[in-house]
Amino acid sequence: MTVPSPRPVFDAIPGYKAGRPAEHDELKLSSNENPFPPLPGVVERAAAELARINRYPDAGVARLHAALSRHLSRPEDTFAAGTGSVAVLFSLLDAYCGPGDEVVTAWRSFEAYPIAVTVTGATHVTVPLRADHTHDLDAMAAAVTDRTRVVVVCTPNNPTGPVVRHDELERFVAALPSSVLVVVDEAYVEFVRDPDAARGLDLQARFDNVLVLRTLSKAYGLAGLRVGYLVGHPDVAAAVRKATPPFSVSDVAQAAAVASLDAVDELAERVDEVVQGRGLLLEGLRAQGWTVPDSQANFVWLPSDQGPQLAEAFWPVAVRPFPGAVADGGGVRVSVGTTSANERLLDVAARHLTGR
Ligand SMILES: *Cc1c(COP(=O)(O)O)cnc(C)c1O
Repeated sequence: MTVPSPRPVFDAIPGYKAGRPAEHDELKLSSNENPFPPLPGVVERAAAELARINRYPDAGVARLHAALSRHLSRPEDTFAAGTGSVAVLFSLLDAYCGPGDEVVTAWRSFEAYPIAVTVTGATHVTVPLRADHTHDLDAMAAAVTDRTRVVVVCTPNNPTGPVVRHDELERFVAALPSSVLVVVDEAYVEFVRDPDAARGLDLQARFDNVLVLRTLSKAYGLAGLRVGYLVGHPDVAAAVRKATPPFSVSDVAQAAAVASLDAVDELAERVDEVVQGRGLLLEGLRAQGWTVPDSQANFVWLPSDQGPQLAEAFWPVAVRPFPGAVADGGGVRVSVGTTSANERLLDVAARHLTGR
């Protein structure tokens, strides 16, 4: 007996490759996770919700939307939450794209984009990064056609690290037809220190076709609980809420997210530590002779034609390899970890260069 086949586009969908499991959590620098435990109060408030998991969660995600509204000074109807901002992106593309439509992103960029686009039946139009590993917004603007429904701008860009400049993004958005949705993926925004970096929320306030994706998975350290959201025009947020499976965000996750958003000072301290760690990694790797583009995220990028071999050489420090030539986005991505994990990474990187 044969089983029914999925839609033909499924043959073209690459499976998402997660980072290789590490022998020790501390040496897992492959998934851009936060090396710190959850923020103070988070585990307690999430645990309190566990006692009532016989109930479905609040389908309207009201507590989280209210907390986000306080946190970002935006009305509650501008938010749509989901099980991670990747899930929000899937729902968004589901709502706005289908066969015959086009979605433009830079490449190399976030591995989930080709999957999320292709599932809808839309065509993924990829625009190569510039030689300095930044978005080529002029080329992306030139790639927009009357079939383009969505453009995704990832800033800081995963896996290469640099941000898009605010003035460049502003010019880009202003020149696009308002019928094209611009998604500014700010998964790493809390780690940004460059004053010229794009500020998605500022642009969102001025352009109804701009929306911002944010996540609790990275700086807030809730990757395992799956909470992300978009900030956009209320009509866009409403469409995405409709496209999101009901009861996606559990009350446990909501409670943890709200407690995390409340821990403003402790978050700032931890983010500062990660930013310091990033500086030490960048400095240390460059001093060893590696070429490393600027990073404004919680990871650094080592461009290389030998990504998989490098990842092998760095083991037991787990990093994320990307096969292919440098020009095609080959290299390894190293997440900033604890001080001792960062030192270990510098050690394996130095040994690799000297062949010891
Ligand atoms: C990690 C990441 C996300 C967020 O993923 P979640 O689904 O929220 O865990 C979104 N965009 C980019 C570019 C990322 O790297």
